[in-house]
Amino acid sequence: MPIKVLDSQIVSQIAAGEVVERPASVVKELVENSLDAGASQISIEVRGGGISLIRVIDNGVGIAVGEVELAFDRYATSKIGNLKDLESITSLGFRGEALPSIAAVAQVDMVTCASGESSGTYISLKDAKVASKGSRGHPQGTTITVRNLFRKVPARLKFLKSLATENSHIANVVSQYALAFPEVKFTLLIDGKVTLRTPGSRRLIDSVAEVYGLEVAQNMVEIKRREEEWEGGTVFPPPEVTGMVGSPAVSRSSRGYLSFFINRRWVSSRLLAWAVEEAYHGLLMTGKHPVAIVNISLPPGQVDVNIHPSKSEVKFRNEHLVFTAVQKVVRQALIELMPVPKIEAPAIAYRTPSEPRELWQTSAGSSDHLTSSPPVPLPTLGVSLPVLRVLGQLLNSYIIAEGPDGLYLIDQHAAHERILFEQIKEQRAWQKIEVQGLLEPVTLEVNPQQDEVLKSHYERLAQFGFSIEPFGDRTYLVRAVPALLYKKDWMEMVREVLDSLFGGDWMEMVTISMACHSAVRAGQILTDDEMRELIRQMEQIANPHTCPHGRPTMIHLSSGQLKREFGRS
Ligand code: ADP
Ligand code: MG
Repeated sequence: MPIKVLDSQIVSQIAAGEVVERPASVVKELVENSLDAGASQISIEVRGGGISLIRVIDNGVGIAVGEVELAFDRYATSKIGNLKDLESITSLGFRGEALPSIAAVAQVDMVTCASGESSGTYISLKDAKVASKGSRGHPQGTTITVRNLFRKVPARLKFLKSLATENSHIANVVSQYALAFPEVKFTLLIDGKVTLRTPGSRRLIDSVAEVYGLEVAQNMVEIKRREEEWEGGTVFPPPEVTGMVGSPAVSRSSRGYLSFFINRRWVSSRLLAWAVEEAYHGLLMTGKHPVAIVNISLPPGQVDVNIHPSKSEVKFRNEHLVFTAVQKVVRQALIELMPVPKIEAPAIAYRTPSEPRELWQTSAGSSDHLTSSPPVPLPTLGVSLPVLRVLGQLLNSYIIAEGPDGLYLIDQHAAHERILFEQIKEQRAWQKIEVQGLLEPVTLEVNPQQDEVLKSHYERLAQFGFSIEPFGDRTYLVRAVPALLYKKDWMEMVREVLDSLFGGDWMEMVTISMACHSAVRAGQILTDDEMRELIRQMEQIANPHTCPHGRPTMIHLSSGQLKREFGRS
């Protein structure tokens, strides 16, 4: 084919494809416009997965009569005027591409009324051209209706997923903005049903309750950077980090519950996800992810939002500063959440966070944020336990102890699990796991699936003290086991770890499982000496407040709380 210039309609459809990938992208662009217009109420209605209809109604500033048509011109924007403005963007939009892009791939009607104007304006576009225009009554604000999305772009239509999938992407976009703007009342109607409604109360917790439900909301804690933490050691003050994070008790099995907003723009960022997960290190079970809503504000010049047409990815001028700020603030909030009274001054430990780095690099897409960043010094906040005096055992499961500031109820199984987890980790690092030979080798039979795993993993299990060798036909001979598990149900533990070879860190999983199977059980009577020994060991470890699965190991009632409960001041 000879070279020729594409006709303008094809050009605009190609360009539109960068902004409007699927119905949810239209919703995102329109909601962003409403937010930029200062709306306090935004209602979104979709039908047919957003392909038949998307309507967004806002009570923002509206568009002046004389500018209504211009708004649909490519690169027409009221948000920046020159190159300099690009460095200080505070609005969500600025490229002037959304309305023309949407009009290139759908039929669009808009009714708008700007403040101070007596009547509204109506405009209708078909095939990116104005089909009709006139005046029509409308309260202050804008209503945009998008119909028959991608009807003229069958190639794009073909790539859309089921209506349910498109609806869930739309619900996600609206949910994210509802979390970012708790002061705005959002309503989302999908096929006539209210799917989300937020009160616009300004309180993030109210939006969280609507988006994620009450149970999650009840387990969220606020994160906030404390001013005094900036010692002036860096050129720029660290970014302000606010929002809420979930206690380890509400972890989820995907990263879909991590929301990041930079200067109120919803972005996806592996760097930030990594920072949050680092803060939860050791508090969540392998394969579990936290719930977090993290707002970062920093001077617009410190972040480049203009690297992608959909503006969903950003580049920080100082990644290290942002990473550390987020990690620290989240960690601090989590530590304060733990029912342990004393927080020691943070001891800075330098280490390379190698494990999450590997994990992220294997996931799809570019990871230049990560590969370019140097090993980060991570503050390890040590929370120690005061010296405790054992008073007794409750329900054969909890140790009652007294400390300098009140009463402690300690879950014996969870606490012992944490102690053993730390010990096994350390012994493995020094290759000092104690091994107990069995009097006679024991045969271990496994199912075909477990066999596949064991075949390639029995050598790794040897690092934990298991001596296991193939004995043919889905049978193995076990000659030695970790001393900790001798006389315990180690076979059950081996089966458990063979069944859970899903992504994540398998070695950590084995450590957790081994700790769990060797720890004292709930219901087991302990002597005073045993209880004292357990508490003594707890006093010596760094994270005594949760078990490796993330559940609390203890409840603390301070003397103040006791006095309040009994009504004494
Ligand atoms: P951008 O948002 O990048 O400026 P858009 O194509 O999304 O580009 O919108 C073009 C212009 O139309 C905006 O700059 C704004 O002035 C106006 N506009 C769009 N939607 C609204 C709205 N809901 N309320 C008020 N003005 C709007
Ligand atoms: Mg816009």
